[in-house]
Amino acid sequence: MLIGSLLIGTFIIAILLGGSLLLWQAWRNQRDASRKTSFVSNVSHELKTPLTTIRMYAELLGEGKIHEAEKQRRYLQTIIKESQRLTRLVNNVLDFSRLEQGRRNYQQEPLELKQLLQDLLESQQPRLRDADIRLDLQLPETACAVKSDRDALEQIILNLLDNAVKYAAVGEKIQLQLSCSDQQLTLRLRDWGPGIPSAHKQRIFDKFHRVDNSLTTRQQGSGLGLSIARQLAQGLGGELNYLPMQDGSCFELLLPREGAK
Ligand code: ADP
Repeated sequence: MLIGSLLIGTFIIAILLGGSLLLWQAWRNQRDASRKTSFVSNVSHELKTPLTTIRMYAELLGEGKIHEAEKQRRYLQTIIKESQRLTRLVNNVLDFSRLEQGRRNYQQEPLELKQLLQDLLESQQPRLRDADIRLDLQLPETACAVKSDRDALEQIILNLLDNAVKYAAVGEKIQLQLSCSDQQLTLRLRDWGPGIPSAHKQRIFDKFHRVDNSLTTRQQGSGLGLSIARQLAQGLGGELNYLPMQDGSCFELLLPREGAK
């Protein structure tokens, strides 16, 4: 009798556990499917906006109706800026697919980090000026040589910078700080924007994850930038972390000096 009840009890528990597992799996599949759908629609939207702008300004210039040199210059600058935005997005989608398929290879070339940062940030100046954001770049006095993958490093920094520009309030400061020890280099990107709610601090590195608030609704995004940046950092043998701040956000990239795995 007792054994019979035990068997029935065990049977019911097994059914309940199995059922919960199936429900959980179905919920996860549905969540992944809906994240993918919103990813496709977000990416399409992100591609469409700069393309529409580029086409509009190119048509205006092509029609020859814009005679003022200053206006022509502004329209051309917008075309360049929007094409750069398209390039960043396409690079992210390409990186994402290579990382997903385990096909991302890392080069090991000698790099001087101070120079790399200065060149990269120089190319971002027009965007920062437009957003009225002041970049405070803090570099070590001595050179910081490393063997690493230039494209991966640039993509990580650009993704972090993109977010700081998108989510930090207009007219704010961003701080980029590099420090180098014999073993490792540390790069911190700090902004004084709205920060990240504590419930999302780990999940922001999940692919497709976007914090569901008015800020994210206002700003376009695919939810891929941080996931790619972290995977690239790990591919280089380092790590990318979010450091909780009282005000704003800070992302920390740690990399070994000897370079990519
Ligand atoms: P995307 O910016 O395309 O949405 P990311 O993976 O780059 O995707 O970022 C994930 C989410 O993390 C963003 O949607 C945003 O909600 C939040 N986030 C990232 N960086 C910042 C930041 N500097 N300040 C505030 N929120 C941020």
